[in-house]
Amino acid sequence: MTSSDPKPEIRLQGIGVSPGIAVGPAERLGKTLEEPENLAITKSEVDEEKDRFSRALAVTREQIVALQDEIEAHEGDSHSAIFDTHLLILEDSAVINEVLRLTEIRLISIEWAYYSVIKRYIDSLRKIADPYLRERAIDIEDVAKRILRNLRIEAGEDSESRPLLPATRVLLAHDFTPSDTVGLDRTRVLGFATEIGSPTSHTAIMARSLNIPAVVALHEVPEAFTSGDTVLIDGFHGLVVINPTAETIAEHETILEREKSVLIDLEALKDAETRTADGRKITLSANIEFIEELGGVTERGAEGIGLYRTEFFYLAKKELRSEENQTANYRQVAEATAPHGVIIRTIDVGGDKLRPELFENPEPNPFLGWRGIRLSLDEVEEFRLQLRAILRASAFGKVRIMFPFISTLEELQGARVQLEIAKEELNAKRIAYDENIEIGAMIEIPSAVMIADHLAHEVDFFSIGTNDLVQYTTAVDRVNDRVAHLYQPYHPAVIAMIRETIEAAHRNGIWCGICGEVASDILMAPIWVGLGVDELSVGAPQLLRARRALSRLDSTVCREMTEQLRHCGTSAAVRARSFEIASAAYPELLL
Ligand code: PEP
Ligand code: MG
Repeated sequence: MTSSDPKPEIRLQGIGVSPGIAVGPAERLGKTLEEPENLAITKSEVDEEKDRFSRALAVTREQIVALQDEIEAHEGDSHSAIFDTHLLILEDSAVINEVLRLTEIRLISIEWAYYSVIKRYIDSLRKIADPYLRERAIDIEDVAKRILRNLRIEAGEDSESRPLLPATRVLLAHDFTPSDTVGLDRTRVLGFATEIGSPTSHTAIMARSLNIPAVVALHEVPEAFTSGDTVLIDGFHGLVVINPTAETIAEHETILEREKSVLIDLEALKDAETRTADGRKITLSANIEFIEELGGVTERGAEGIGLYRTEFFYLAKKELRSEENQTANYRQVAEATAPHGVIIRTIDVGGDKLRPELFENPEPNPFLGWRGIRLSLDEVEEFRLQLRAILRASAFGKVRIMFPFISTLEELQGARVQLEIAKEELNAKRIAYDENIEIGAMIEIPSAVMIADHLAHEVDFFSIGTNDLVQYTTAVDRVNDRVAHLYQPYHPAVIAMIRETIEAAHRNGIWCGICGEVASDILMAPIWVGLGVDELSVGAPQLLRARRALSRLDSTVCREMTEQLRHCGTSAAVRARSFEIASAAYPELLL
């Protein structure tokens, strides 16, 4: 092969976790701080080196501020705040003084001095168990890359025309944590792919809610692949193509075109009610993680928010957690979702959503550990702060509260006691709230299913968290790609758990929804209709597709099918029965 030959196309199969197709220059994340040459200088060159450093710092500052302004204009302050941290890193006088001193004493180039100092900081931060501090290493590395690049431009070794951050790019990484995903600069990230991960990890869920095409579980990205190579990400089929040929790109453009025409057709359903073909009403609401998603949700005609995950407050900056901040945030969501309203879930950190400052002592089994309501009931001050914020927002719109990770009746009762205390705290200050605020329990642990009749007496509704229910019913870690093939939402045991939960809710006169990822899987819609679910809360991008699918289903036909599921012993058998109905009812929606 000569150097002018195009690089060969490489196809990698993973799991598509967020639909869509992205093509663009790739950036491989990870060990990417380029080591400069270790050059000696003379004494007479020291001043010039120092000047070069000041100029590079000034240019870097301008670039960060410009980026910050741009993101703020597009996405609001909560996303641009990361750049305040970058400016602090840039201007850290301890680092600057050490770099200047090293250059002067050791007579080494400013690049090498800067690299040596900053690398030491990054390496020591990387060794710390605390993920919050480890993440700061990524920020420092980001700033360091800019400074080194600007130093190279100063020295005429790099051109200014190559943008520091390509306007748009596709990211490839070993892994993303949920907090990496929170920090993604969405104006520049076209799509991403990771070597590990799974569809129900919170990173995947966030990718879907941010509408970024994503593929996980690639296992290994070839070493030969470098940043700058063109990469295509097909989130529909879990495919990543490195150096795609013109034919591959054209083929994917056709898929995208087909998808676009389906989406145009679905637009007509925006203001429609969600009803099955025989007129049964099902509430179709949306899941959100960030307030920025609200626009997309209301635009697509969601009947409220069925799950507002509030971990964002606990994964991002600490200052965001104040009662005032949370109240303002929840109020905005309540007002924007009128008349349907919002179900706000109290925090569910733990599992793969690690709360930074609590993880100096990591747990051996975080998914079986201190998570969700367990943590809230151990930290009642913080819990009540959130409950007060939710209650205060309820004065401005329809707000419901939901408690996650309930495994015992006592936990649910304990949560209700805290809610009563929070109400009294507000009464004492004469702060208004909805006195009849409805409360719900997430059913996502098998023990909760088995005592669902008891739990139902305590609440106004159930919402089934299938992401966890599948994990805990089948003993398959939801983020472990090695056992991903065993993570089976169609498992007859899972279907039995969901059936029992819905029946228990109805026996006790309360309604039951599903808010796990399967709610938006239109291949499963016949099962949900057949089991009699009252509400489905889905990712906003899937909303209209789900509405169309439900509108084509007949509840009697679906019910007959779900009765037959009692005799199925495998996931494949369950899936086949549901597929038969789905593919006859809405073939055009199944890509
Ligand atoms: C679930 O478990 O299905 C759920 C909706 O909650 P999370 O994914 O946040 O654990
Ligand atoms: Mg859950």
